[in-house]
Formats: sequence, structure tokens, C-alpha cells
Amino acid sequence: MPAPVAVATALAGTRTGRRVLIGVLVALGLAVGLVLTPLIAIPFAIAGAGASAAIAGSSEGGPTVEGEWGYPLAGNYTKGRGFGWGPVVGCAYCPSDHSGYDMAQGCGSTIFAAGPGRVTTAGRYLDYGNAVIIDHGDDLFTLYGHLQDDSIRVRVGDAVRAGAPLGAEGNTGRSYGCHLHFEIRSHGTRIDPQPFMAARGLPLT
Ligand SMILES: [Zn+2]
Repeated sequence: MPAPVAVATALAGTRTGRRVLIGVLVALGLAVGLVLTPLIAIPFAIAGAGASAAIAGSSEGGPTVEGEWGYPLAGNYTKGRGFGWGPVVGCAYCPSDHSGYDMAQGCGSTIFAAGPGRVTTAGRYLDYGNAVIIDHGDDLFTLYGHLQDDSIRVRVGDAVRAGAPLGAEGNTGRSYGCHLHFEIRSHGTRIDPQPFMAARGLPLT
């Protein structure tokens, strides 16, 4: 009989011995657990890091682009106010006649250029908070409003194409919760982004 088993058997013979034995077994179990915990936890930590990297990668993977134009957000989003008349309940300072199309994916989501052009504004802009405006030529402009502070990734003069990251969805300016205010101006007039995008194979839902 090996010595440890002999000792265990002897201890098990008395009540105090059994208590000592249980104590030793619990201590052993804890020790084994402590040694194994990092081994079990590390693969999960690695898997977790991999998963978060994949999520970051997918949002940076860019939005759907059809030809020269694409969505200003990658993946699913929640529709906010559409273009035109629509008072905001609970927001006295929000204009009732809405000049753009509101889309929300969550604070910090990447906002992308919808079409090719040159950046004419990249910073504070009127009630739009932090905004980017792109000149697409032919007197056509797109505007991306309410971007997060310090999130703008382009500068005035930069040439961009659809899918270029511009900044992050935020709540700056006259905004009521994180969202993107997507506005299109054609020949000095703000136009409804919905038919504009639909005509390019990019229906806004
Ligand atoms: Zn808006």
C-alpha cells in the first residue's frame, strides 16, 4: 500500500482523522483549481479578444456600396425621422421641418461617405454639431451631422469615395440622442434622401 493511501486510510478510521482528510482534500481541490483556472480562462480570453476584433473589423468592413454610392452606415440601423414635417415630441429646440434623414445604429458607430467627392466641411457646423459635408460635383452635397467630438477622420480638401470612414455617430449640436443626420443638398435645396438613395439601388428603410 503506498504511503499516502496508508495515511489516508489510517486517518479515515477516526472522526478527527476524517475531518483532517476532508480538509486536505478541499485544500488539494482548491490548489488544483488555482493552477487550472488560468489555463481554462486564457483560451476564453483569447477567444473573446478574437470575437471583439471580428466585430470591430466588420464595422470597419464598410457599408453596402452600389456603384459609386453606398449607405452611410454599415449593417442594420434604426430609422429616425424622415425628411419633411415631423415635430419631435419632447424636444422644443428640434426643428419640426426636418431637412434630412435620421439613422441610428448606436453611439460611436462609424459613419461613412455615401458617395465620391471632396470634403468641404469637417468640424463644428451650425446646429449640426460636428459635421462633415462632401461636395459631389454638379452642385450636389451630402452632410453628416451630430458626429461625436474628436471623431472626425477627414479634413477639408480630402478626396473620398463611398465607404470612406468619416467619423462616429454622436449627439452633438441640436440633437436628441445619438443618431446620424444624413442630409442631401442639390442646387441649394435640401432634398429627400430616401428617393435619392433608392434611385441608386440603396433604399433607406
Ligand atoms: Zn436629423
